[in-house]
Amino acid sequence: MNGINLIALGMMFLLSPLFSFAWGCEGHKITDAIAYNHLSQPVKDSAAAYLDGVNFEDAGCWMDEIRSNHDFDYLKPCHYINVEKGESYKPSTGDNIINELNKVISQLKERSKHSKEENAIALKILLHLMADLHQPLHVGYGIDKGGNTVELSFAGHNSNLHKVWDSEIIRQSKITAADCLRISSSYFPNEISSIEKIDVLGWMNDSRSHLVEVYGFADGTVSETYITKNTPVIEKQLIAGGLRLSALLSEIFGKKG
Ligand SMILES: [Zn+2]
Repeated sequence: MNGINLIALGMMFLLSPLFSFAWGCEGHKITDAIAYNHLSQPVKDSAAAYLDGVNFEDAGCWMDEIRSNHDFDYLKPCHYINVEKGESYKPSTGDNIINELNKVISQLKERSKHSKEENAIALKILLHLMADLHQPLHVGYGIDKGGNTVELSFAGHNSNLHKVWDSEIIRQSKITAADCLRISSSYFPNEISSIEKIDVLGWMNDSRSHLVEVYGFADGTVSETYITKNTPVIEKQLIAGGLRLSALLSEIFGKKG
């Protein structure tokens, strides 16, 4: 490698975000596919009218795709919230996933007061953040930056806890939307109703309840046992995110906004 390439490589490291705060796109696509599958046709049509032919799954990845666009820097803190271990959520006016979700939900309920472009952005944010909310480390502890500073060995390579939950287990266990849809089809109707009850803070707390399992690794290594134990947790969270997103979209687009 010549000197110029080395400098270019060094610049890439310098310019890359230090920490990740996103389900891999697989996680977003699975959640959004589950939501789409559960929607009525009129709600699908009403929401799709804002996406200009882009499907839900791709629209759900938009918030990660625009990370290098400085026009949207204000959205960077909105992928997550940190609540330290043993503490409870305290309402604030800061930028975080809870405030942003509440903001876009309110906006879309009153969409006639906003431009089509503003509503399109709000919908893409909603499609994205409902998936992020269900990744426990997006609502985890600030002390380790949602697991980003917890270095771990995963399948023989260096990784970190956040990345393991964002994408590594999904890829390693080959979790697909079809698997999750099959699992969710075995849920009883009352189970689905209970999951779908609209309660953004309750959903955050449900997600945080899995932090015990998330931190249940040993010796800085992600073992096969850990992956086997947590694959169903991730599937459950992806399904819950999808069902709850579907409930929100039905509530929003099932009525005139
Ligand atoms: Zn995100």
